[in-house]
Amino acid sequence: MRKISILGSTGSIGTQTLDVVRQNKDLEVVALSAGTNVELLAKQIAEFHPSFVSVAGEKEAEALKKLLGEEKIEILTGMDGLMAVACAKDAEIVVTAIVGMLGIRPTIAAMKAGKDIALANKETLVCAGHLIMPLAKECNVRILPVDSEHSAIFQCLHKEDAGEVERLLITASGGPFRGWKRDAMEGVRVEDALKHPNWAMGRKITIDSATMVNKGLEVMEAKWLFGVDFDHITVVVHPQSVIHSMVQFKDGGVMAQLGSPDMRLPISYALYYPHRRYLDSERLDFAKLSQMTFEAPDPENFRGFALAWEAGRSGGNLPTVFNAANERAVALFLNRQIGFLDIPRLIEESMNASSFIENPSVDDILETERWTYEFIAKSLAK
Ligand code: NDP
Repeated sequence: MRKISILGSTGSIGTQTLDVVRQNKDLEVVALSAGTNVELLAKQIAEFHPSFVSVAGEKEAEALKKLLGEEKIEILTGMDGLMAVACAKDAEIVVTAIVGMLGIRPTIAAMKAGKDIALANKETLVCAGHLIMPLAKECNVRILPVDSEHSAIFQCLHKEDAGEVERLLITASGGPFRGWKRDAMEGVRVEDALKHPNWAMGRKITIDSATMVNKGLEVMEAKWLFGVDFDHITVVVHPQSVIHSMVQFKDGGVMAQLGSPDMRLPISYALYYPHRRYLDSERLDFAKLSQMTFEAPDPENFRGFALAWEAGRSGGNLPTVFNAANERAVALFLNRQIGFLDIPRLIEESMNASSFIENPSVDDILETERWTYEFIAKSLAK
């Protein structure tokens, strides 16, 4: 039996992880965490019988208790709850399917408790990769990528010599506004930005895909996961999303991982690495696959993408400023309080106004996050 706990079980990655559990009798869920979707969490408790769960706050805990009626289960709340789920005694592997920088502390706690990490929560590596990767070594735990691009690279690198890698080629669908000029994106509505051409994902990452910020975050994530510098990472726009990413080796050979767009494959690969399990999913039909096309990304019109490279190359706490500003701006956009192009504008203004910290601690990262939120609030109040 492989025992797992899930941070963010009610989200897109969380529910797909539970689908993988459903398909495999040798996976057991020991702890789950959700935010506010207590109805879904109650159903998950009834189906998967975790030892305990965590929700965002007291209000959600009360609502969950009511829904569960006679069924008694320990319900924790807030950051303490997330930390407890991350460190659940019997779990061997923790799936970090929570969204945003909230994932940093629980991920660190899980590693210190000796758990392997199936990492979906890319924001953790973006902001704290310099702390997370050495800690994984120190604690002798594995960071197994769930993001489809990173899983693709991880699969291509299996049994290969990391020293023989020349370049990582990260594919991008280009999102719903691929080929658009900046001016045309001025009046983009929330509904338009939430229409991803190929993937069904949570709301925040779907907006990140529309701005191409997601691809920038993935470049930073790849740097830490695979120890490759920015000069050896290239983004290739591939609108069909059939190739999930590639690795070019020093002899010029390129390995690619292909598949239909289904996050359950990378989730399953992370949970069973280095083995593969049968997955009841759509297979690629090459006879029907009429074309695969490729183009260069457009950093001029997708300013958020260009800023991600700047933040990544500068390092220190700048990726945190970039990420925190993006998290806040995306939330404001989803609330219809700012326009689509205000997202990269607020990121850029925050980056320009921030003070640089070369080697930030977790406290520095959290303080940088706080400063960025405050900066954006002040800038919008003007
Ligand atoms: P979702 O928004 O669908 O889910 C987020 C999860 O986090 C939900 O379970 C939510 O709970 C929980 N959550 C949110 N806020 C809180 C809080 N304050 N306290 C406790 N829990 C909270 O996100 P995704 O599944 O799309 O993404 C999760 C992570 O995976 C992100 O970092 C994303 O970038 C990454 N990722 C996602 C992919 C995808 O296909 N979706 C692909 C690759 C990476 P609730 O809903 O109950 O409020």
